[in-house]
This record gives sequence, C-alpha cells and structure tokens, in this order.
Amino acid sequence: MKLTNISKNIKINRPQEIELKLDVENIYLPITKNDKLLIKLNQEIKKETIVAMKKNNIPIISSISGTFVGIDKYYNSNGELNDFLIIKNNYKEETLKKIPTKRNLLKYTKEIILIIIQKLGLKTDNDENLFIVLDREPSKLYINALEDEPNNFNIEFRLLKNRDLILETLYTILTIFNISQCEILIKDTNTKVIKEYEEYLGSYPNIKLRLVPDLYPISNYHILKEHLPIKEKEILLNLEKLYVLSYALKRQRFLTEKLLTISGSVVLDPKIYEIKLGTRVGDIIDYDEIIKSYDIWINNHLERKPLFSKDIIIDNNISSLIITIKTNEKIKPCNRCGMCYNICPFKLNPIYNHEKNITKPECINCGLCTYICPNNIKLNGKDFYNE
Ligand code: SF4
Ligand code: SF4
Repeated sequence: MKLTNISKNIKINRPQEIELKLDVENIYLPITKNDKLLIKLNQEIKKETIVAMKKNNIPIISSISGTFVGIDKYYNSNGELNDFLIIKNNYKEETLKKIPTKRNLLKYTKEIILIIIQKLGLKTDNDENLFIVLDREPSKLYINALEDEPNNFNIEFRLLKNRDLILETLYTILTIFNISQCEILIKDTNTKVIKEYEEYLGSYPNIKLRLVPDLYPISNYHILKEHLPIKEKEILLNLEKLYVLSYALKRQRFLTEKLLTISGSVVLDPKIYEIKLGTRVGDIIDYDEIIKSYDIWINNHLERKPLFSKDIIIDNNISSLIITIKTNEKIKPCNRCGMCYNICPFKLNPIYNHEKNITKPECINCGLCTYICPNNIKLNGKDFYNE
C-alpha cells in the first residue's frame, strides 16, 4: 500500500494554549422519534442532566445548566437535518451533585467498567462496541493518537495536557482486562509528545510508543490494519475515546466538553478551543463573513467535507474547522493521466468510479484523488451533503 506525504511545503502555525469558549447562549442536543424524552418544556435543568434516553440505553446529557425552551431543526455532523432539543444557558454551570474524583481506578471491577463503557456508547476504530470486544479480553490494545490533518492539534494537546490520566486509565484497562500489551501510535515527526511520553513510560512496562511514518492517510483503520498489522483479538481505539472513558472513570461523570481546532492555510492565529458539546457553529465563528472569501472544511481539508451552514451542531465527530482559500479553479475534462489511480491507497480507479457515479465500499474518502488531479475534477466527497 502506497501512502502520500502531503505535509511538505506547508507552513503551519501552532496554537499556543487551549482557550475556553463555554459561554454559548444555547446548546442543541439531537433527538429522534425513537428516543425517550425525559424533560418537559420550560423545565429548568442542571448540567449533566439526562434529558433523553436512546433505545440502546445510551443517555443524552445536557452540557450546561439552563431551561429546555423547545425543539427545532438543525444539521448534525453528517449534514442531515434533524430535530434538536434547545437548552438555554443560565451561565450558572449548576451540576446535579458533587461527586469526588476516584483516587484509584484499580478499585473498579471489570463489570462496572463494562457498564460505564456501554453507557458512553464507545466504539473501536473498527466500529465495534468497545464493551463487547473488551469483554473478550483482547490480546493487544492500540491507541490511535494519529492525526491526518496537519492543522489539527487536538490530539497533541490532549496527550500533553492529560498525560497522567491517560496512562493511569491505560494501566487500569490492561490490568483489569488482562491485556498483555498496549501501543500508543504516534507520528514519528511529533518530537514534543515522544520526548514527554518516553520519560514517563518507564513506570508502565506494558505500555509503549509505536512510531508511525507521517504519511497520509495513516490514521485510518483500514490503512493501519495493513500497516501495523492489526491482528485478530487486537483493538484499535481512538485517543479521544480513551479520554472520554478516562474522564468518566476518574471524575465519575460524563464529559460535556470537547476540543475544537480552528485553523487552516489562511488562519494566521489558529486556536484550539474547549467548547460545550452541542455548540452551534454560528455561535463560535463568524460563518457568514468567513464563507464569503474562504472555504471551511470539517476535520480535514483533503476529505472535502464542507461546513455548509452555520446551523451545524458540533458533536464528537467534529474535531476541527479548517479554513482555506476558495477553490475556484476551472474544471477541465479528464485527460486519462492516471494520477488519481496511482495515488489511491486502494487502487480504486477513482475516475472510472466517478464517471459511473459509484463509490466503492473500500473508498475511505481520503480525498487524495481529488488533491492530485491536475484538471480539478472532484473525485471524492459525493456522499457528503450532495456536493
Ligand atoms: S478513491 Fe477513495 S480511497 Fe481512493 S484516493 Fe479517492 S477518496 Fe481516497
Ligand atoms: S487525475 Fe484527473 S485527469 Fe488524471 S485520470 Fe484522474 S481524473 Fe483524469
């Protein structure tokens, strides 16, 4: 499998610190007909209240304290128009009750951890329920701390800011589920994180760093499965999901905030924000102004998933907003140069698929085919928002 180096010749500014952006007027929580609503209109609620329950018993939690003021249509991170509960912020951050942090995570039993994971709805990078695969006592755990978008700094900040909790959680999971080894996957160019972790990993003999080349799109499960390789009974878990679990175990409550990087080739002063889950895009960026002159992409500018509305609600599937120069180059007819085929990690013949209007199931929508095409033909991203 041939991967691509895309980061050369790109000047990337790095945010300095995580900034808080938690004082939004409203937050918006997705609700479907199958979910059981547990609050009434105009009811005052505290932060972390379970406002609805999904069919599979996964709770929907409010990330602020305030009043339930109605239901309206907004876009989810997949670009679908859905119903959302609107909670108006009273800016008091009142929580249900004071719960002490857990001093020793090893006091948890296997059964309790599995229940917590099930309630959090955590899945592996292979889209399997984490509580099911952990219960089978896997032989090895990989933590995916790789980021393919060079402008996205969430993972790096998470690793550096929450190092002790991440390592304590990993040690607990390995011990309780009898897993002999864990490898944290880090790009070999990320010297800051490598230096920081190598100093501390001496105390955790079962946890190692595994350095991975800085090639695109190395963070994808299907690429890593072949590259590492990931064998049967081995799990790949994204770092941010591990952190959600870490927080739930340590603080004994649900995480109601998330990190969001706002960056890109035209952003001189990139930011990494801590925001409320359920924040509306238009409440954190001046969408109408930016979109006049620039393109805004969700998560990865090569994947070409456009931020098409200020009414998209940010959930755990949105990690960054990448702002770039507007792409208005003229599209020319295909000259059969074969560059898209050559660059595709799975050799899927993107132009053939494009002309036949099919997307092969193996396509991971990495966007390399569109990126390389000299005639500016949009070969990927058809599934996103009917682009
Ligand atoms: S066809 Fe799919 S997997 Fe292949 S380069 Fe294009 S987007 Fe990537
Ligand atoms: S890279 Fe563009 S021009 Fe070349 S074969 Fe693919 S679609 Fe055609």
